[in-house]
Amino acid sequence: MAIWDSVLDILFPPRCKFCGALLDKSSLDPCRKCEKADFWLTPTQAVAPGTEVSRCVCAVWYQDPLRTEISRFKFQNHPDHAKAYGPVLAKQIRFFLPGAYDLITWVPVSQATLEKRGYDQAQLLAEETAKALGTQAVPLLVKIKNNPAQSSLMDGRKRESNVAGVYKVPDPKLVKDRRVLIIDDIRTTGATLEEAARTLRKAGASQIVAAAFCRTPRK
Ligand SMILES: [Zn+2]
Repeated sequence: MAIWDSVLDILFPPRCKFCGALLDKSSLDPCRKCEKADFWLTPTQAVAPGTEVSRCVCAVWYQDPLRTEISRFKFQNHPDHAKAYGPVLAKQIRFFLPGAYDLITWVPVSQATLEKRGYDQAQLLAEETAKALGTQAVPLLVKIKNNPAQSSLMDGRKRESNVAGVYKVPDPKLVKDRRVLIIDDIRTTGATLEEAARTLRKAGASQIVAAAFCRTPRK
């Protein structure tokens, strides 16, 4: 096994999952340089307000070099990055949202995206985050419309209308009177999380909090 690991290390040299720098040995932790990087949110920057989402906690600014790694995670078949990001997000949840939820779920991609990508990055992130919190993430939402990617729209209003009605709770009895924590990879205007939260609340959830690994800096 050790030999096989070293062969893999030569073929695919281990990289920091936060900045992409080459590492001596594989690790899920941020490298030394990343530990001191300016993408970490301060406690006052970590919590974003919402309407349907009463509080959304984030861990890092969505900026380079981390942005490049997030895009590898989402689009370039690097599902393993979730193992590095989940524990970081879990730490924020433990600190900012203790006792605020009964269930953990995620903002799902559509079936078409899932088939194209091969995995749902928010699901993997939610599963790794829940694992680090000593619990399990449960599927509560499905995406019923394949709308244009939010990242293609800059205007806040357009982002809101683009996601209206795209989610559904197939089994409302799972959420009735429960407090739900929704997990997503990136929070930009918060429109996606708000819509997911609205859908959960209409299905009977009593309170919604959220956690997104990245927060997009204001322009
Ligand atoms: Zn790094």
